[in-house]
Amino acid sequence: MSDAERPIDETSSTDTNDETNLERAGGVGTAGPEEEFEPVDVFPESEEMDLRPGADDCYKCSTCDTNCPVAEVDDEFPGPKFQGPEQWRLKRQEDKDVDDSVMKCSNCMRCDSACPSSVPLSQMHNTARGEYVEEQMNKLSREYWRNRMLANYRRLAPLAAMFPRTSNFVMGLSPVRWLGEKLLGVTSEREFPDFATETFHAWWAKRGGNETSRERAKQARAERGEEGTEKRIAYFHGCYANYNTPEVAKALVRVYEHFGYEIMIPEQRCSGTPMFANGMLADARRAAETNVEELAAAIEDGADVIASCSSCSMSLRQEYPELFDIEGIDDVAENTWDAVEYLRVHEDLKTELEGTSVADVEGMEDFAYHAPCHARNQGLAGQTREVLSPIDGVDVHDVGDSCSGISGTYGWKEEHYDTSMKIGEEMFEHMETADAEAGLTECPTCSMQMGHGTGYEITHTLEVLEAALTTGSESQGRPVATDGGPDGNK
Ligand code: SF4
Ligand code: SF4
Repeated sequence: MSDAERPIDETSSTDTNDETNLERAGGVGTAGPEEEFEPVDVFPESEEMDLRPGADDCYKCSTCDTNCPVAEVDDEFPGPKFQGPEQWRLKRQEDKDVDDSVMKCSNCMRCDSACPSSVPLSQMHNTARGEYVEEQMNKLSREYWRNRMLANYRRLAPLAAMFPRTSNFVMGLSPVRWLGEKLLGVTSEREFPDFATETFHAWWAKRGGNETSRERAKQARAERGEEGTEKRIAYFHGCYANYNTPEVAKALVRVYEHFGYEIMIPEQRCSGTPMFANGMLADARRAAETNVEELAAAIEDGADVIASCSSCSMSLRQEYPELFDIEGIDDVAENTWDAVEYLRVHEDLKTELEGTSVADVEGMEDFAYHAPCHARNQGLAGQTREVLSPIDGVDVHDVGDSCSGISGTYGWKEEHYDTSMKIGEEMFEHMETADAEAGLTECPTCSMQMGHGTGYEITHTLEVLEAALTTGSESQGRPVATDGGPDGNK
């Protein structure tokens, strides 16, 4: 368990409340002297959270509204102030239902960072959305079943991953996409992401699992003169890195082992991010119960929890303790880190990367970098540029602080596709004017949107670190095959 301090990224202009957000993730209550209020269940059926102190902290400055990407392009969306504190006040009159516009919120969580008064906006939105879906949404509607399907990607992905080539072929057919839109309301404008021909889990098992990792880490520590130390992480890879982009998960394994970390892969379910965004709180709670139990056990074994997806780390750190009361949940929130952030804090990355080069590595070039909203919310907007700067052959151009617009499942919905692309326009323009022809980000769905809007190949920061740190070894370069190709099982 780490006792290191988390650095706050001072390079981010919109992260004024990150410390507050992280405190919230650690279970510290929001502002407001508790003795002034009688606890009131705002939405009694959903986890018995008392949001009243936070709602009363709103002084109607509208900063959240001016920072909401959906409100900026959709005049009909009433914005976060209404969705949070104002809706709560309406809700105090018992005959008031949750307004259905809560389903237009993409859960980007930018309003959380923007609020100068630490109003727990996303907690309010998530709770209201949960109640709306539970009590007001028609369970026989196409919208409900489409949202349920999108939110439960992890249940469908294993089926498709059993026959990846067939799945990729079928899902790429225009008539299938057309049917998906007509029958389910999943936009036909986007191409479904490919399933890897070998999942990360299959690769990990073939490679020897935790036992092999322990040996490799021990050897690396000996080479680094760190004998006698224990370095261990529990990797929360999330669904997408397992089924679709195992190259990101493999990069994490190789980079962490390079620094002498033994990697554990605990049993895990979806982080819950798509479930929160779709108001499926009962599904999210079931997933959280497994994740918290397994990750808390790994922490007990001396591991810190590391996520390679910024939305997964956001979920474990902030949304879990905000929405659920599960034994061990605060421990998990306090010991979860973003993958690059952890190395930045615990290792001398600058010295390690001085003198490394990716100039001759295929796919490594100058990148247009987009910091995902959920990374900004954790105070991590500027870290990728800072960390990669010593590496020769790669230049990272930040494309600004706009939202990519896809927000997980949001941009996959037929009715939100146009809004999603309007929000993304600023990022697409900045990517195209940046001195780069490829993209870089840490969020899998931002990556989809960046590729969709520009046609660029998109890379994860961990893949660049892998290329820089392992050049000259057999696993050098960006792994291009997922089926035991050039990178084999190294
Ligand atoms: S930014 Fe905070 S204080 Fe200002 S209107 Fe929004 S919720 Fe209220
Ligand atoms: S989470 Fe994002 S989309 Fe939703 S209200 Fe806040 S800023 Fe707007």
